Amino acid sequence: MSLREQLCEYGRRAVELGLVIGTSGNLSVRQGDLVAVTPSGVALDRLTPELCPIVDVSGHLVEGDTQPSSETPMHLAVYETTDALAVVHTHSVFGTVVATTMTELPPVHYNALALGGVVKVAEYATYGTPELAANVRAALEGKQAALMANHGGVTIGPTLEQAFEATRLLEWLCEVYVRGLGVGKPAILTDDQLAAVVERAQNPPAFPRRP
Ligand SMILES: [Zn+2]
Repeated sequence: MSLREQLCEYGRRAVELGLVIGTSGNLSVRQGDLVAVTPSGVALDRLTPELCPIVDVSGHLVEGDTQPSSETPMHLAVYETTDALAVVHTHSVFGTVVATTMTELPPVHYNALALGGVVKVAEYATYGTPELAANVRAALEGKQAALMANHGGVTIGPTLEQAFEATRLLEWLCEVYVRGLGVGKPAILTDDQLAAVVERAQNPPAFPRRP
């Protein structure tokens, strides 16, 4: 699948799964020094490959007649400092709830390790600005996900599929935490408990074949 076809595929899925509404949210995927990004002002389930512009990593338009997403500077800032090859940004409900009420998402489930443990909330800045890009980049350091204060979430990955799955996981973790707060006081996993999970994952049980 071409980079632009991938944007159409995951754009559709993002809408289907309720991770974005209207023209909110944007995706990008990188190959070499080129980045295919979703266009500004087009709903993610209405994309066609031709509607998705291609920019280079320094932000020059290379191909396409549409304007790249207003959040493209944030995507490019992430590519500049990480080895990610895809970025997914949404205004998903539970992610945005956490991003508007807290300064971080604590690890209440061991699956949070897949995102780097604690997910930080990047300081608020106006959408599309270099300031927001810098804040997101700082919150993402060493992690696969960040939340953006009063805005939404962002995840990265080595492929668009993996960045997209990270967004689904981030939303699920936020939902578990927010719903947990409505029921009681969610227990937060300790560093020792998380280290034990890493240890366990590295040493899976052996099932020797019956002789
Ligand atoms: Zn946004």
